[in-house]
Amino acid sequence: MKILIKNATVLDMVLDNPNIQKKDILIEKNIISKIEDRILDDVDKVIDAKNMIVMPGLVNTHTHLAMSIFRGYKNDSKLVDWLQNAIFPVEERLKPDDIYWNSYLSCIEMIKSGTTTFNDMYFRMDKTIEAAERSGLRGIIAWSVTDDSIKDKLERTREYFKKYSTEKDSKIKIYVSAHAPHTCNPETLKKCVDLAKELNTGIHIHLPETLKENEIIEEKYAQSGIEYLSDSDVFDVPVVLVHGTYIKNSDIDILKHIKGGISHTPRSNCKFSSNICNITKLHDANINVGIGTDGIETSSTMDMFEEMKVAAYLQKINTQEKSRMSAYEILKMATIEGAKVLGLDNEIGTIEVGKKADIICINRNKTHLYPENDICSNLVYSANGADVDTVIVDGKILMKNRRLIDINEKEVKKKVAKIVKRLL
Ligand SMILES: [Zn+2]
Repeated sequence: MKILIKNATVLDMVLDNPNIQKKDILIEKNIISKIEDRILDDVDKVIDAKNMIVMPGLVNTHTHLAMSIFRGYKNDSKLVDWLQNAIFPVEERLKPDDIYWNSYLSCIEMIKSGTTTFNDMYFRMDKTIEAAERSGLRGIIAWSVTDDSIKDKLERTREYFKKYSTEKDSKIKIYVSAHAPHTCNPETLKKCVDLAKELNTGIHIHLPETLKENEIIEEKYAQSGIEYLSDSDVFDVPVVLVHGTYIKNSDIDILKHIKGGISHTPRSNCKFSSNICNITKLHDANINVGIGTDGIETSSTMDMFEEMKVAAYLQKINTQEKSRMSAYEILKMATIEGAKVLGLDNEIGTIEVGKKADIICINRNKTHLYPENDICSNLVYSANGADVDTVIVDGKILMKNRRLIDINEKEVKKKVAKIVKRLL
């Protein structure tokens, strides 16, 4: 299959400063094979991207896809009450099929708002994998482990790793997931690290997000979350560290040496009344920072454009400096830097010859995107997920002219409505 994207205004996300040029892009199978002023090859499909900004698909570095049913559910209740009485009891009653349909709904929302790669942790990873495969998205998926019934979950992780690591060109990768420092004791962390080493894969873990969670760690171990993970050898393997709202200055020296990086989840941090992650400081220390929506229960949408906006706004307040961070720096976090956090930067995150064809086209012909004094600024501060017109993942068109290809959204909504009726 050959696809030609012609007349595109390409924002390739390759350099330290924005590179925006009119180009044609040729996709052969799942790879970007040419980027030239004019491509005249015979092709199977042509996408006319006149009036479109064409950029790499967005990389969502932290999700719980199956939590889509919690959208708006008891949002304004107190945190502990909300967790204990609204979220946990429902999660306990989720059936495997519920995980599939809930995850599928999140996948559809991600496609419709320009995300092409996600990094998920939850339970019943087999059902999340099924939903990801059905939707056509690229994803890293993990079975979240706490101190309870750890053996079975790690066994299942090993099983799925073996299945997907042997499939050539698989869009699914498997990570090990320890849930968080305050829910995993040293023994649990050790087992997770041992498995990640055995499989030569990474670990996806939350850092303390709220003040309370941070206090639990400090009281229990007399250490910061980062120091605790470092002493537990978690940084021997690539990591995705989520939130980072209580990173201390002394932690930054440790973080400079990790493989992977931080997943910044600004809307979740705001909703949990937690703290602002100092991504400006992390960035200045050359630590990779990606952006994540977390689950719908906190961010309310899977729209990475909304997440980028809040990330940018919070740093203006955090630094008391209008120039930090720039829109382009934020866009990098949502693309190539996010790909670095996930260890996928050789495959995705930029538009370059030889990379996987994960590409989105954004409709510039919108009132709220006019005039176009600065494309990057418009993308971060003015655009939203509904401006995404066309989505390609691994050389396959998943949405064109905002029409989903081969996905029955109505059916998925119906299934989720039944689950909501049963559980909420
Ligand atoms: Zn989370």
